[in-house]
Amino acid sequence: MGEMITFEQATAIVLGSARYLGDERVPLSACLGRVLAADARADLDLPPFDKSAMDGFACRRADLPGPLVVVATVAAGATPTAALAPRQCARIMTGAPIPRGADCVVKFEDAEVLPDGTVRSGVAARSDNICRQGEDARRGGTVLPRGTRIGPQHVAVLATVGCAQVPVARRPRVAILATGDELVPVDARPAPGQIRNSNGPQLEAQALAAGVLPAVYGPVRDDREDLTRALRQAAAEHDVVLLSGGVSEGDFDLVPQAMQDVGLVIRFDRVAVKPGRPTTFAVGPDVWCFGLPGNPVSTFLQFEFLVKPLLRRLMGCDREPPVVTARLAGPVSRRHADRESWLPVMLTDAGDAQPLEYHGSGHINALWRADGIIAVPAGTKSLAKGALVRVRPLSATH
Ligand code: AMP
Ligand code: MG
Repeated sequence: MGEMITFEQATAIVLGSARYLGDERVPLSACLGRVLAADARADLDLPPFDKSAMDGFACRRADLPGPLVVVATVAAGATPTAALAPRQCARIMTGAPIPRGADCVVKFEDAEVLPDGTVRSGVAARSDNICRQGEDARRGGTVLPRGTRIGPQHVAVLATVGCAQVPVARRPRVAILATGDELVPVDARPAPGQIRNSNGPQLEAQALAAGVLPAVYGPVRDDREDLTRALRQAAAEHDVVLLSGGVSEGDFDLVPQAMQDVGLVIRFDRVAVKPGRPTTFAVGPDVWCFGLPGNPVSTFLQFEFLVKPLLRRLMGCDREPPVVTARLAGPVSRRHADRESWLPVMLTDAGDAQPLEYHGSGHINALWRADGIIAVPAGTKSLAKGALVRVRPLSATH
């Protein structure tokens, strides 16, 4: 067994081992949740022409308050019309190109049409109500950097710049192997001594939410040969292998042994964090393998904070979700302070971190309303109400 390292050290080892897995192209309609593999650039100025931000009258500011003679109507989609001469105006619709000569748009609400058909504006025009060509982006400029995880707002940007085929990072193939003789499938009623395999479906869901391709195997029995066979095949066919269970110091915790049997090199196997102490990380030439502790909260959090950052790096994304600072809405305390410990909190409407009832690493239903996790540092036994804490978001719960 190796030496105990801090979670920061574990993170540095895991991320330091990452390598970009390459890219492919997908249609715009299939890029949601993928990671952009090349900067998206504007192929035109955005907006491509000076356009009206309002329905109103395009005119010269110097001619206001009028009266102005209406000489044209410009609809969205129209091509530029003749230039406006002094004391002329054009009815113009939102999104329509501004006629030459005009330098502002008076909203219909701010204008009065006189009986003779001319237009007056009683209200001094504050804004010119024009979206200027290129004010959002210049032709050739980057509108989305590579490494962006594509959400609906990014789809809109890609559509705007004409990106019909989107370069995206290849999704890591992730094998999920739950281990344990006590595990029964979700649709079975556990006999005495048995429990349902929740880590398998949970890890599959976490992998899907992280934008990678999960393949679920097992559960695998606590048998060295079965485990070695399953792990060898999983490692050969996937980029990442996630095992749950079998990494503690029990008589049937055979995962580290199996990792070595299939030729993986263990980089660490003890992390000074609670939950998750026996988290084990091993690498092969083309595979990253995690032995996650069997307790569901450990598996869940180690995936969120250790595995997910690696998956992002494999896809060329190195931005982590922002950590927010909040005040504790109530005190927290613990008996042992030998390791950093992670506790679930909920953010209140006032932005404070409310500690949630939590019985330890088996208590997976404590997380249902957790917005994030706070870390109580090693050596600290309690934190008072009002203490400033850093909250790592649990995006998978939203
Ligand atoms: P282990 O790491 O194998 O010693 O397991 C630690 C604890 O987690 C035990 O109480 C196991 O029963 C539980 N556990 C292990 N694997 C799973 C799983 N796939 N789903 C739910 N609980 C599990
Ligand atoms: Mg076990």
